[in-house]
Amino acid sequence: MPELPEVETLVLGLRKDLLGRTLSRVRVFEKGALRNTTAALLKQARGARLVGLSRRGKFILFQLSNGAVLLFHLKMTGSLLVQARALPRGRWERLQLEFDGWDRKVTFVDQRTFGYLAVIADGRECPAPLLYELGPDALSVTREALQEILLGSRRPVKTLLLDQRVLAGLGNIYVDESLHRAGIHPATPASHISPERVAALHRSMRSILRKAIECGGSSVRTFRDSSGVAGTFQRLHRVYGRKGEKCRRCSAEIGYTRIASRGTHFCPECQKPPRRSRRRKR
Ligand SMILES: [Zn+2]
Repeated sequence: MPELPEVETLVLGLRKDLLGRTLSRVRVFEKGALRNTTAALLKQARGARLVGLSRRGKFILFQLSNGAVLLFHLKMTGSLLVQARALPRGRWERLQLEFDGWDRKVTFVDQRTFGYLAVIADGRECPAPLLYELGPDALSVTREALQEILLGSRRPVKTLLLDQRVLAGLGNIYVDESLHRAGIHPATPASHISPERVAALHRSMRSILRKAIECGGSSVRTFRDSSGVAGTFQRLHRVYGRKGEKCRRCSAEIGYTRIASRGTHFCPECQKPPRRSRRRKR
């Protein structure tokens, strides 16, 4: 699933190509790609200029000059590609955006079809309420805020960090990578993590996210940026997708387990499992 660095990569590419352009048409090939959005509502977006393009958590927001917002969520396999307008419709293409006087188009491709576009227009209820419930962004959260988040929960730290209402932007890859570099076992109850480890987690999370954006994201399965180029951060993964391989820090075999039904990679040496008695003072 595209996570914060992949979504940020897409937004950076799209912003360069699209800002200031006027939306002339939205062609919908698969109605399932729309969430609570009628054809009439889409029509209202036509003729408006694109005045902003941003990311919030894993959402992409196209802000239009008439106040409407086109909201994309890529879910498992979605992506937005800038292509020649004359290019025939591709296999996984769900919809496309056309702009005035531009020989290119933006196509929303999605193999698994969970991704969607929703239009937020003035006075209408947002079709994706999660947008307003997101926690602080993982790229800009302060150490103090992260400390407070962790102290407030006994849930396994991995489960907590995946919860977009708690912290926005992380998914399976970047949670596993951040916890490994901070030396925290993913099943550790969040409130049991020492302030020193929280500081380490804060540092590792932010440096990993920044590096991953620099690398154009991780292309584990289908991810491509808006110009169709794969990211390279997967080459720098230390645990994710490396089950049974050697830890790059200590040479132990990378382990694999399920936490909150999510596949989880970790090093059994660098990330010691939580001790049960740690909560009690001895
Ligand atoms: Zn290790």
